[in-house]
Order: sequence, then C-alpha cells, then structure tokens
Amino acid sequence: MEIEKILHSQREFFKTQQTKSIAFRKMYLEKLRDLIISHENMLYDAILKDFGKSRFDTLTTEISFVLNDIDYYLKNLKSLSKPKKVNTNLVNQLGSSRIYSDPLGCVLVIGAWNYPYQLSLSPLVAAVAAGNCCILKPSEIAHHTMMAMSVLINENFPPEYLRVYEGGIDETTALLKLKFDKIFFTGSTKVGKIVYKAAAEHLTPVILELGGKSPAIVTKDANLEVAAKRIVWGKFLNAGQTCVAPDYLLVEETVQEQFLEMLRKYIREFSYDPGSAQYTRIINQRNFHRLTTLIDQKKVYTGGDFNEEQLYIAPTILNAVDWNDEIMQEEIFGPILPVISFQSYNTVLNSILELEKPLAAYLFTNNSEEKEIFTRKLSFGGGCINDTIMHLSNDHLPFGGVGSSGIGNYHGKYGFEAFSHQKAILEKATWGEPNIKYPPYSDKKLSWIKKLL
Ligand code: NAD
Repeated sequence: MEIEKILHSQREFFKTQQTKSIAFRKMYLEKLRDLIISHENMLYDAILKDFGKSRFDTLTTEISFVLNDIDYYLKNLKSLSKPKKVNTNLVNQLGSSRIYSDPLGCVLVIGAWNYPYQLSLSPLVAAVAAGNCCILKPSEIAHHTMMAMSVLINENFPPEYLRVYEGGIDETTALLKLKFDKIFFTGSTKVGKIVYKAAAEHLTPVILELGGKSPAIVTKDANLEVAAKRIVWGKFLNAGQTCVAPDYLLVEETVQEQFLEMLRKYIREFSYDPGSAQYTRIINQRNFHRLTTLIDQKKVYTGGDFNEEQLYIAPTILNAVDWNDEIMQEEIFGPILPVISFQSYNTVLNSILELEKPLAAYLFTNNSEEKEIFTRKLSFGGGCINDTIMHLSNDHLPFGGVGSSGIGNYHGKYGFEAFSHQKAILEKATWGEPNIKYPPYSDKKLSWIKKLL
C-alpha cells in the first residue's frame, strides 16, 4: 500500500477514538508481547544474519528490553492515563483544574540499526501505550531485522493502526514530506538535522535520539578492577556499536599503566577473538573501512587486528592519544578505545566542556568531591558513576540527549509523556463569581484586581 494511503487510513482510524480506550491499548500491547515471544527464534536468526549478534546479547539488550517496556505499560497504563488534579489559583475560584494525557494522533518512528529491535519497538510500544497510531521505519542497514519486524507487525496488526514501512533514504525522505503528529528519530546527529528540518515544515514536534562522543573518566581514587571490567564490557558490547558506549577514556596519569593492564586482562578474559560467538561483527563494509582507517597502528596498545571477510575488528586500545588526533574528531561507534591521560581532574573536565554535549558520560571514582563536580559541571544526556551504559536499563530514569546528542526523552513514564499531549482543563462553577473582571471597568474594580493578582 502507498504510504500516503496508509497514513490517511491511520488518520481516519484515530478519529474513531478507539485507540483512546485503555482496554484497546492493553489488548494490543499484550498481543505484541505474545508475538515477540512466539517469534523469538525468527528475531534471533535475523539479527545473527545482520551482524552476528549472539542470542545472549539479543535477549538481554533487545528482546527483554522491549518485553520489560510492555510489562511496564501494562502495569502502569491506568495511572499514567488518569487525569491529574492540580491546584487552582485564587482568581479561578470556584473552579477545579486537571491535566489530561491526550494521544497525539499518528506518529512516525524511525529506527537505527545498532539495536534494531530495541530502538524501533520500544518507541513504538510507548506510542501505542499513549494511544497513538504508528508507522515504524526501521533501519534498512540491518535488512533482516527490518524484515523480521515487518512480519511481526504487518502480518498481525491492522495497517490503519500499526505499520512497518520498509525502506532506506528515499523512502524515509518520502515519509518526512508527510504531516505526522510526532516524529521519533534515533540515529546520527547528521540525519537528525535532516529530520528536524523536515518536521519544521509541518511544525511537527520531534524526539531526536542522537549520538556523540561519550567520555569515561577514571581517577586514581577509583576501584580500578571494577572500572576496567565495566568499561571493557560497555565499550565492546555490540562491538562498540552502542550509542552510549564509552567513546574514549580519560585516565589519571598515576594509574594509567596499571589500568591499561587491567583493560587488556578483561579483553582477554571476555574472549572476543575472531571465532567468538559472543562478539558482534561490524554491520557492513563501509563502517568496517571507516573504523580500520581510524586505527593508528603506532598507538595500538592492544588489538589492532581485523579481518574484512568476517567484518571482524579486534577490541582495540590506542594509547597516548591526543585531543587533536583524527579518532577524537567524531563519534567512533566501533570497538576502538582511545586513551588520553590527565594530571588535573578539573582541567580534563574543562576539555570535555569544550566539546559538543555528549549522550553519556561515565566517572569511576570513590571520591565524593569528584562525583559532585562531575555531576554538576558537565552537561550530558545521562550517565553512571562507577558503571557504563546501565543507566538506560532503569526505566525510572529518562533517556535522551542534550544539545547535539538529542532532543527529548523516553523510557517508562517519559516514553508515555513523549507521545502524549498534556491537555489542561479548568472547570468553573457557574455560581459564586464576583463581577470584577467584566466591563465596564472602574477604579474600584482596578484596586480589587490589583489586590487579587
Ligand atoms: P543514521 O542516522 O545513518 O540512520 C538512522 C535512520 O535514518 C535510518 O532509519 C535511515 O534509514 C535513516 N536515514 C539515513 N540517512 C537518511 C537521509 N539522508 N534522509 C532521511 N533518512 C535517512 O544512523 P545509524 O547509522 O542507523 O545509527 C548510528 C547513529 O545513531 C550513531 O550516531 C549513534 O550514536 C546513533 N544512535 C543513537 C541512539 C540513541 O538512543 N540516542 C541509539 C542508537 C544509535
């Protein structure tokens, strides 16, 4: 079906008001949950074909993530959708005030390839929970997962309610010409700007979940063993193709040597070798070439090997990197960790402040003053103290960027709010109203109004 026709049918369907019923939303959330569970093997197979992602990683970072979101909304939908009573100010007495969470209408979700299920289906789930119709355009770069989501949705849901639209740049460009009630985009900052411009034509609000260079800082007061283990895990999960992966490492000079040894130890322990089933491959040739040219062999501390046929790049640490090196100019989005040492904690935070605001930041220390300075001084989407990545697994926390790493949040109640309009209603009594706001005005009325306001 042509995309204009699908959107038109969704608009007509939305007008029937059916998506506003909590029972309707729950029914479809339950249906999606059951379909994901019954199609689990299809989902695993597709992602394995796309970039060799293991069942373990697919379960923990994709499928269980989406299922948890569904469970969250099934449990909390009633309270999230309930009109919220708020106070009413003096001039509006006798009255009462309420805020209604209204579905926006027909929304567009554009997904990225690196966590194809999570980044496409989690926003879709939030859109459904909030009572919208939705068109989902997954990333064509992960072709098999895009087709798997198409089977999951298009064969089981009415197109006038939910539809996966397959395609690449041309199809996305066509979609962006249409008027949606919200666009939720996950991807690069470069394409985020294209989406934002297109949305502006229709005054469509956007959520932009973008990328950036997320630092990890390790000071001499850190538990180095724990820091090394958690940084290696967070960096090389999904072969570094994670938007919130630590992009680069800043380590205090006095512990640098010892810390690098520990990083190497954990890389070996986690068995990320070429035959390993737990190590994801690079998504395609283009990214493989982009990444391998970033490896300055003179600076390789560990790793540095790659195999084009298998799209394998070994976990690589580059030491003695300079802020001006090529690898420090753009988001890496692959398994290469540049390391810069520092002497002064405050100076290194000032260097981060010179860059675009990152999507995430991580500090490893047991020093409370350092924690306080990190939290207050830097601006970033979200992050962890003494861990990497895990903040986004807590659905009580909002997830999103700031500045060039994004606009808006989702997860848990923030996802629901992202796809809702907060409609304000003031209800007035029809009796007991003083006459002073109505003309004709007088000095007496003015003096009363001054007192009241
Ligand atoms: P991308 O920007 O290339 O693609 C994202 C989506 O945009 C895809 O669906 C694609 O079809 C579409 N697209 C690509 N070029 C387009 C164009 N010219 N016009 C219109 N649409 C276009 O991003 P990607 O390679 O899929 O993902 C990598 C980037 O996404 C990284 O920067 C990463 O940090 C970021 N990311 C952010 C998050 C987050 O939650 N903030 C999550 C994952 C990835």
